[in-house]
Amino acid sequence: MAIRFIEDLSIASKRTFIRVDFNVPLSGGVITDDTRVRAALPTIRHAVARGARVILASHLGRPQGRIIEELRLEPVGARLAELLELDIIAADDCVGDGVKKLVSDLRDGQVLLLENLRFHREETQNDPAFAERLAGLADVYVNNAFGAAHRAHASTVGMVGHFSEKGVGYLIRKELKFLGDALGRPARPFVAILGGAKVKDKIGVIKSLLTKADVVLIGGAMAYTFLKARGDQVGDSRVDSDNLRVAAGILKTADGRKVDLVLPQDHVVADGPESQDTAVVSGDIPAGKMGLDIGPRTVADYAGRLKFARTVFWNGPMGVFEREPFAAGTLGVATALAESNAVSVVGGGDSAAAIHQSGLADKISHISTGGGASLEFVEGKPLPGIVALDS
Ligand code: ADP
Ligand code: MG
Repeated sequence: MAIRFIEDLSIASKRTFIRVDFNVPLSGGVITDDTRVRAALPTIRHAVARGARVILASHLGRPQGRIIEELRLEPVGARLAELLELDIIAADDCVGDGVKKLVSDLRDGQVLLLENLRFHREETQNDPAFAERLAGLADVYVNNAFGAAHRAHASTVGMVGHFSEKGVGYLIRKELKFLGDALGRPARPFVAILGGAKVKDKIGVIKSLLTKADVVLIGGAMAYTFLKARGDQVGDSRVDSDNLRVAAGILKTADGRKVDLVLPQDHVVADGPESQDTAVVSGDIPAGKMGLDIGPRTVADYAGRLKFARTVFWNGPMGVFEREPFAAGTLGVATALAESNAVSVVGGGDSAAAIHQSGLADKISHISTGGGASLEFVEGKPLPGIVALDS
């Protein structure tokens, strides 16, 4: 694929549409985590410094084609203005005459923030007429919204065909470098760590990693589906019953490929995630108990294996890390990863949150900003938002 980069596009004095991912968590109108706004800054700063007429567009939440006051981008605009130390012009829509006027009044180096794209149903429907209206606002198209690259929407795919001058911003370039290059041609040993809750969503990734990784370490709720498939007793642990056969098939494939697929040998168990009354059990889990974190021997085992890794991909927490009694497994693995010299890549929304919570984020080579997008990319699926930029 030939994908151009913003530094190689001619953007000076040009109306430059930058699709950003400002889908931040909000609580009572306040941004609770501005990571995504910060992640867009290098691209926006570059465009401003080059004298582009910058038009920023994002979605926020799931308004499903209606105007939802709480999902206006206004708090994001305010935060962005603070971080950039620059005035931001805010539009009250993303298309229409008012927006056209604001765009035509833009001077070089000014920044206009369009209103939530998903206030129009046509955005997620990838409606061609709507895409054309968006495209009509600009001369150059830049995509910097990796978290939305796996969706074929008007702002990520539909409008892109209208541009000959198009490319990616710094954020997507970094994602492609780590998820694509580092994991595509990994230094070995390559260790993958997989956990979290949604086995079903991760089957594709596991299968793909079985063709690339030397070692796959399993934790989180996902482990119990594999353990049960192997014939272990898992008590009341969360099991994806629809995928037991798939799990058994994956265990067999790993065997055949000589990939070391490792399951937890001990567990932190309790009556449920709310319980404080925990115990560590090795092997089978008694009836009535749920496995809610990997146990200390498993942590030590996984940490030991991470010592020798040269490439690591991690997706999915090792336990219910949101609750203190079940956070040690995730923290232990995060610490081992932070101490290793491997190229370390973390993908997945909850995994990224766990790494930030642990305070070890700056010791990780790359924390992907795309949850679903990073999984699909690692799985080897073409991301429509990236494919559309191929020239
Ligand atoms: P990511 O967002 O990183 O891809 P997931 O969404 O797949 O990760 O999984 C994260 C969730 O998995 C967390 O909310 C965590 O509490 C839950 N989880 C992890 N281990 C267990 C477990 N043993 N039992 C139940 N839930 C678990
Ligand atoms: Mg998640």
